[in-house]
Amino acid sequence: MKNKAANRILDLQYFGEFGGVNPSISDSSTYTFLSAKTMFDTFEGNTEGCYLYSRHSSPSNLYLGEALAALEGTEAANVYASGMGAITSVLLQLCASEDHIVSSRTIYGGTYAFFKNFISKFNVDCSFVDITDIEKVRASIRPNTKMIYCEAVSNPLLEVADLKALAALAKEHQIPLVVDNTFSPLTIAPTTLGADVVIHSLTKFINGSSDCVAGAVCASTDFCLALKDVNNGAGMLLGSTLDSLRAASILKNLRTLHIRIKKHSENALYLAENFEKDGLRVVYPGLTSHSGHAIMKDQYVSEYGYGGIMTIDVGDLSKANALMELMQKNNLGYLAVSLGFYKTLFSAPGSSTSSEISEEEQRAMGLTDGLIRFSIGLDNDIKRTYESMKACMISLGILK
Ligand SMILES: *Cc1c(COP(=O)(O)O)cnc(C)c1O
Repeated sequence: MKNKAANRILDLQYFGEFGGVNPSISDSSTYTFLSAKTMFDTFEGNTEGCYLYSRHSSPSNLYLGEALAALEGTEAANVYASGMGAITSVLLQLCASEDHIVSSRTIYGGTYAFFKNFISKFNVDCSFVDITDIEKVRASIRPNTKMIYCEAVSNPLLEVADLKALAALAKEHQIPLVVDNTFSPLTIAPTTLGADVVIHSLTKFINGSSDCVAGAVCASTDFCLALKDVNNGAGMLLGSTLDSLRAASILKNLRTLHIRIKKHSENALYLAENFEKDGLRVVYPGLTSHSGHAIMKDQYVSEYGYGGIMTIDVGDLSKANALMELMQKNNLGYLAVSLGFYKTLFSAPGSSTSSEISEEEQRAMGLTDGLIRFSIGLDNDIKRTYESMKACMISLGILK
């Protein structure tokens, strides 16, 4: 599959106030009006191109939103102060008391906690399902179901959702398919496969420099405007607003996303193939041994590869911890959560990013103690990295 997302982003041309090559940053929380009538109309949502207050929108946030809409091929996009700010806004926009959602059971820990523990306060119920089993998804839909939610490539188990099948099912029931595409920007284009709403944690690959937290919702103009509505918009009223200075810096980083993703993928594939050959239990969507490999091949935009995330199961938590500490000592990466950095990042999700999920549930979904999640960096000489990582594994008895 081919996709023109990178071209669409690169074709967006913005000039700064003084002819700068980057758009000017809007350094204001509030905006003046020449006439009082225009201010009233803006509150009513009637004046295009007028700014009111920066929690509603700001020029810098609109530039970034436009670029993210270009990334996902949607009519519009809103930006938020975090990925969770985007996710919580979407859920609370789509659901009211007594509603129900169907969600993949292997999702980001924070999203899982929100769906499992928090939304019950509002009488919203969530069924967690194995998203790769379309019949189970179908069976869990109820008359009051308001969305199907999944990650295109899931955290941390790297399950690949069959977005075409899920979109067809959602359409049948006239509910939106909402896809968190944080692990696979450019690699997977959910809307071309039928998704209605695409969410990103910009904190990860899209920003790529691990220096801020931000999020986005890419969707129809109607939905994005509804989220911003001054009377009823969850985005507007929950207040998860991205600062303009940050929006401007994220937009600059987005400009190089296509190059970074190719390198992350190339490096991850090299390590995954070699460590699998060495006999380790490697999970990576680019490996033919991966249960979602065929779907990935059917859905992905091939020039970007299979993404930068892989997992290795080294047997138990103490071995995983020892290996991560040694790799960090040898400067092969950092023992840190998050992903999409120039440097390789690794963590054991069972005891960190997915610790919101109970041990019993972790076992049921195949999340083992010895699992290490790697976000592979932009290393220039990945063969050298491989040999150094292998030396760490040999010294700890993980490899012979
Ligand atoms: C990190 C992450 C989130 C949450 O994003 P924040 O920017 O940390 O709020 C959501 N989904 C996925 C898949 C993530 O990796």
